[in-house]
Amino acid sequence: LRANFSVIQKETGFVNGLITVLHDNTEQEKIDMERREFVANVSHELRTPLTTMRSYLEALTDGAWQDTDLAPTFLDVTQTETERMIRLVNELLQLSKMDSRDYDLNEEIVEFNKFFNRIIDRFELSKSQHVHFVRIIPNEEYFVEIDTDKLTQVIDNIISNALKYSPDGGNIRFGVIVKDNLLQVMISDDGMGIPRENVERIFDRFYRVDRARARSMGGTGLGLAIAREMIQAHGGSIWAESEEGKGTTIFFTLPYELDGVGEWE
Ligand code: ADP
Repeated sequence: LRANFSVIQKETGFVNGLITVLHDNTEQEKIDMERREFVANVSHELRTPLTTMRSYLEALTDGAWQDTDLAPTFLDVTQTETERMIRLVNELLQLSKMDSRDYDLNEEIVEFNKFFNRIIDRFELSKSQHVHFVRIIPNEEYFVEIDTDKLTQVIDNIISNALKYSPDGGNIRFGVIVKDNLLQVMISDDGMGIPRENVERIFDRFYRVDRARARSMGGTGLGLAIAREMIQAHGGSIWAESEEGKGTTIFFTLPYELDGVGEWE
């Protein structure tokens, strides 16, 4: 809060009034602070892979390129870091597009359960871990109007996280229910969970519960922030419930009309 005082003085010098104007600066200050924090985060996220690459490239230049054991490993590191930076920059561009509303939802009508099952199938076929997939998806047809590319990206991100944090032999459960004109989707894991006080923050840009650990797994910390933007663009919401040591459940909703879907019925 900022206050401006104006003193009303007569020629005689006597003060006979005081005007106080109060400005509410808290919202603007919050935005400024968030922006500064964002720029600092981006810089940090880019500097880390760049300094790593510099030291590996220096070592290669200093002779490691002739070492047939070391050279491929060093090149591999620089490639991994380059890919991470490309991913990061692409995600940043995507977020900036969403911020400026410079995008169109390419919506089409799809049957959600079939669409969801296909994505789960893809992960089930390619996963390398010992994780069981449990589907609690009704044998019914729920038609929704969605941008399938964007929704695929959201679901991919949630499932990748669930797999990343799943213990060997754990379950990942997939659920779909219809609740008050909303389709509610659930993806839950038996992983390490998230400390209670941080659960809501996982949707913030660059937020990671364990920065080093998430980075080593290739994460950028932007996946769920993008997911939230995309779900909100569809008129839905996304949230998490988690218990440390027990697991995490991510929920999201999509608008759904029980008796057919408006115009096209
Ligand atoms: P990242 O690229 O780091 O995965 P996300 O935005 O997808 O970024 O997730 C943000 C953070 O939320 C992760 O770094 C992790 O700390 C936490 N998180 C997300 N999903 C889970 C999960 N299923 N179990 C535990 N922690 C999770």
